[in-house]
Amino acid sequence: MEITSQSIGELHKLLTSKKLSTVELTQAMLDRIKQIDPKVRAFLHVTEDLALSQAAQVDEKIAREEEIGILEGIPMALKDNMSTEGIQTTCSSKILENYIPPYNATAVAKLKEAGAILLGKMNMDEFAMGSSTENSHFFATHNPWDLDCVPGGSSGGSAAAVAAEEAIFTLGSDTGGSIRQPAAFCGVVGLKPTYGAVSRFGLIAYASSLDQIGPFTKTVEDNALVLQAIAGHDSKDSTSVPFEIPNYSEFLKQDVKGLRIGVPKEYFAKGLDEGVKGVLMKAVETFKGLGAIVEECSLPYTEYAMPAYYLLATAEASSNLARYDGVRYGYRAENVEDVISLFKKTRSEGFGPEVKRRIMLGTYALSAGYYDAYYLKAQKVRTLIQTDFNQAFEKFDVLLSPTAPTTAFKIGEKSGDPLTMYLSDVCTVPINLAGIPALSLPAGFVEGMPVGMQLMGRPFSEGMLYRAAHAFEQNTDFHTRKPSLAKGGAC
Ligand code: GLN
Repeated sequence: MEITSQSIGELHKLLTSKKLSTVELTQAMLDRIKQIDPKVRAFLHVTEDLALSQAAQVDEKIAREEEIGILEGIPMALKDNMSTEGIQTTCSSKILENYIPPYNATAVAKLKEAGAILLGKMNMDEFAMGSSTENSHFFATHNPWDLDCVPGGSSGGSAAAVAAEEAIFTLGSDTGGSIRQPAAFCGVVGLKPTYGAVSRFGLIAYASSLDQIGPFTKTVEDNALVLQAIAGHDSKDSTSVPFEIPNYSEFLKQDVKGLRIGVPKEYFAKGLDEGVKGVLMKAVETFKGLGAIVEECSLPYTEYAMPAYYLLATAEASSNLARYDGVRYGYRAENVEDVISLFKKTRSEGFGPEVKRRIMLGTYALSAGYYDAYYLKAQKVRTLIQTDFNQAFEKFDVLLSPTAPTTAFKIGEKSGDPLTMYLSDVCTVPINLAGIPALSLPAGFVEGMPVGMQLMGRPFSEGMLYRAAHAFEQNTDFHTRKPSLAKGGAC
């Protein structure tokens, strides 16, 4: 098997048994990026020199017969909204094009501490606003299964890189589906952890009450290993929760006999592609065959999640993005007369159209006279959605749904119609409003394009999600198939 196709566990064995050096592994990944990325365009910057010098350090440690950790020497990449000390962090925006953070995000620092090798920073929708990675100021990323299709978004670069084997794992961020939806479109495993389980310190904010960092991997087992390294309380993030971090890999040993799985009927409603529905129905049969108890259930407020999300997320974004004014850091417009025109020109030239649309919508929702009708109402809807989930979890251990209503769409197909684009997150946004964990894993194919299954759980039940996902994965072969890396390859 190719080096780039291996799992974290397999690579760890090769490194510790000295059958492969970290430098060889890193060089293989860098060669793969050089060969593949001109087609996929997942990377914004490749940190080649840094990666090779980090790799050499791990090799020295191995040569000294010192023990290495499970992620030590494993090449990975980060969505470009995670602050990396001394390395450009752009959020795929012109306004941060030349921004170099003076510190690492906590999740980044933890991976560094664990000895993972940084290959580079990944393309995304500007400020994580979007579902296709077409909103990047720099360029669009392509889906490795069909280069004419989008990889999903906003963490499209992170998802595509794992699918195309340009990184062993990556991190993304998920505010309304940005890890799970691209994971589904690219046929990889993506987890949005419980709100507060992974520190947001150093994650450039989009909507702070919804944002979470999480891993993209080829397998469920790898995902558990990465979460293990990044989860935990952080005093630098006041919304981070002190909790005892379980050993996530332990959950993979359990089967799903007797596991109670609820299938919310609202997620199988109008707009769901028939082919995707068929794949999910088959997945339900697979779980039943493994001894799980699967029953239909209802989350009645689901239809209000989308409007509530787009009010709350944009309201928070309008406040978070107020800091980009051309004075403190980032892009600064030239030839301005006074400070007001400096603000105006900087923001008008520095932000792309989707970001501006959301700042306007959010500012409107928060303004005097409209606050009660929009923002406050949306907060109340958020509570109702949380109650829906609480009630469902009294009866079920896990809920199962499609991750997205369709497979990956063509580049350009939805970019002119923001509302249609927003609908590709209809299955994922309720989870962020509720703050619960959810995972997407490969569940089958429609016309050669991957379909994702979403598993949702109670707060801090990531272990349970891994248990169910692993059981499914071990009894199917969807995760072993490889993308064509061709145009019109599958559609
Ligand atoms: N696509 C959704 C949005 O545009 C979700 C984005 C995200 O999760 N960052 O807001």
